[in-house]
Amino acid sequence: PANLDGVTTRTTCAYCGVGCGVLATTDSAGRVTVKGDPDHPANLGRLCSKGSALGETISLEGRLLQPQVDGVATDWDRAVATVAERFKATIAEHGPDSVAFYVSGQLLTEDYYVANKLMKGFIGSANIDTNSRLCMASSVAGHKRAFGADTVPGQYSDLEEADLVVLVGSNLAWCHPVLYQRLAAAKAARPGMKVVNVDPRRTATSDLADMHLALRPGSDVALFNGLLVQIAEQDAVNTDYVNSFVNGFDAALVEARMADISVTGLQLEELQAFYDLWVGTEKVVTIYSQGVNQSSAGADKVNAILNCHLATGRIGKPGMGPLSVTGQPNAMGGREVGGLANMLACHLDIENPAHRTAVHEFWDSPVIADKPGLKAVDMFNAVGEGKIKALWVMCTNPVVSMPEADKVKAAIKGCDFVVVSDMFADTDTAKLADIVLPATGWAEKDGTVTNSERCISRQKGFLPAPGEARHDWQIMCNVAKAMGWASAFDFHSPAEVFREYAAMSGISGRFGRDFDISGLADVSEAEYQSLKPTHWPITKTRTGGRYFADGSFFTGTGKANMLAVSYRPPQSIPTEDAPYIFNTGRVRDHWHTMTRTARSARLSQHLAEPYLEVHPEDALKLGLKPADLAEVSNAHGRSILRVLVTDRVAPGQVFAPMHWTGQTSSSGRIDTLVTANVDPVSGQPESKAATVAIAPY
Ligand code: SF4
Repeated sequence: PANLDGVTTRTTCAYCGVGCGVLATTDSAGRVTVKGDPDHPANLGRLCSKGSALGETISLEGRLLQPQVDGVATDWDRAVATVAERFKATIAEHGPDSVAFYVSGQLLTEDYYVANKLMKGFIGSANIDTNSRLCMASSVAGHKRAFGADTVPGQYSDLEEADLVVLVGSNLAWCHPVLYQRLAAAKAARPGMKVVNVDPRRTATSDLADMHLALRPGSDVALFNGLLVQIAEQDAVNTDYVNSFVNGFDAALVEARMADISVTGLQLEELQAFYDLWVGTEKVVTIYSQGVNQSSAGADKVNAILNCHLATGRIGKPGMGPLSVTGQPNAMGGREVGGLANMLACHLDIENPAHRTAVHEFWDSPVIADKPGLKAVDMFNAVGEGKIKALWVMCTNPVVSMPEADKVKAAIKGCDFVVVSDMFADTDTAKLADIVLPATGWAEKDGTVTNSERCISRQKGFLPAPGEARHDWQIMCNVAKAMGWASAFDFHSPAEVFREYAAMSGISGRFGRDFDISGLADVSEAEYQSLKPTHWPITKTRTGGRYFADGSFFTGTGKANMLAVSYRPPQSIPTEDAPYIFNTGRVRDHWHTMTRTARSARLSQHLAEPYLEVHPEDALKLGLKPADLAEVSNAHGRSILRVLVTDRVAPGQVFAPMHWTGQTSSSGRIDTLVTANVDPVSGQPESKAATVAIAPY
């Protein structure tokens, strides 16, 4: 439109948890060009290939433009009335726990807030879980056990101030590219800075590393228990800090001393070199990501890392501390607002009666969920068993992304009533829905997101909503009103939702919890529109900053907890029938199930099809040559993948990217093969250590 010609909007990237600020400029032909925002603290003007191609992904091709009931276009009134009636009838007949929402780390905080309020305060169930369960639930659990709250202690600038950065289970170069750029620039400016990469697989990130520790999959707890022993033996324990602020040191060390570090498969010399470097470097940051989280021992891995930082007091100070980098643009916002089935809102606990009462009163709601709901894997199992009879999937594509994806597909197909709200009509999940509702997406919707360093930024709409698409928070408010809760969901703008949310976070502050942004509870519409990226907490007395250097934690005792953790191997054990360990992850230029990035021809040029990395020795054994097709299978599914023979992977291990669906000739819907083994503490699935058979196709 002519009135958009030359207009530049300050907004945030749609993709990963780095949360880069972008400047998007429109022209009269409807084109959008994107540049990095030099004033955003996350990226300081930088962008990666995905972020810089955002303008190439906004075409309306394939967009869902009208609500559909049973595949037939309809109007909003009928679609909303049908959703409300079916949910009400199901709840009346089978109770509130017979319905569920499965939501997304790509929803904006305002969307998430409304979804959480509707399910936990009005429907009265906690059956709302998010695809962030597949991403960072183990970090949440680890933080809560150690710190008493899901608090990220440090900030991105710590990377640049550190003398040693240890990257554990993180291909930062491809998955958080702007943080990688910042790290590479810091190392170039200060060549004495060291980088260690802990990953069973050699990746693009390993190129920057002074040391690559290709440990056996799943053995991180043994590695960091070994480090804790070295910290003790080399007199590097910060006894003042530990004595004043930490519980559990002795028990954690006793357990660590029993660790058999040989399970890492690493040479003693390389282990000692890593231990000496870590112990001897005061300013150390340990970054960890999905290689740690996506594990049946994910929470223990997180706590093994946190133990080492707590024992040395290297936490919450410039250039020191653990840093969990999240996959999605608003995984942090989602966990803050209570998007996980086992949390309330604003980091309040669902099991705590005082917290429940406070939230109940704040919402003035008819009920309040009084027990945790079903986590993602359990939720889809309950759908398959017929216990969940009405399911609403928002802004995510579980038929591609959930472990044991064929089982999930069958469950959704068999569910009595399925609603999907999405931008696109043709996702694998939308195809199975009774009702599909057209939602706005990046460039069209307005709200806030929180990135991996607790920075809240605005995502802004600058293009009109296409067709009849509505914002997710609006769609949920429409349905909530039709279910009879008009006044509680009478929001007219995202700013109204945000103000209520910010006011509610004051409860968290009153209970001495960490998540308090009540300083924003009175923002005007204009102030909300121009909100600058700001790190929380945001109260009348404090904005941002690091946590825990002063030794105040959010546990009942006020002290941090070191946990006694011991190594547990991945749950799937290689057998004669399935002898290969199957690792999964991202590629540089695609995002999730490619519903957006596949629209950019430039992004698809980097890696055009799904593939399987196989070690040369295994390729020889299997009779596979480069570019052959291989059939990969196990009890849960089957995929056909192009073979890439490479020593990036160790013998006995293979790797495949997770993005593709089954719609190409080389069928890449690889989550069919991922076994739904979960961490008993966090409920996060073990997406990196299934076992498979491989044969020429
Ligand atoms: Fe977007 Fe992440 Fe790339 Fe930044 S690093 S531009 S947030 S995809």
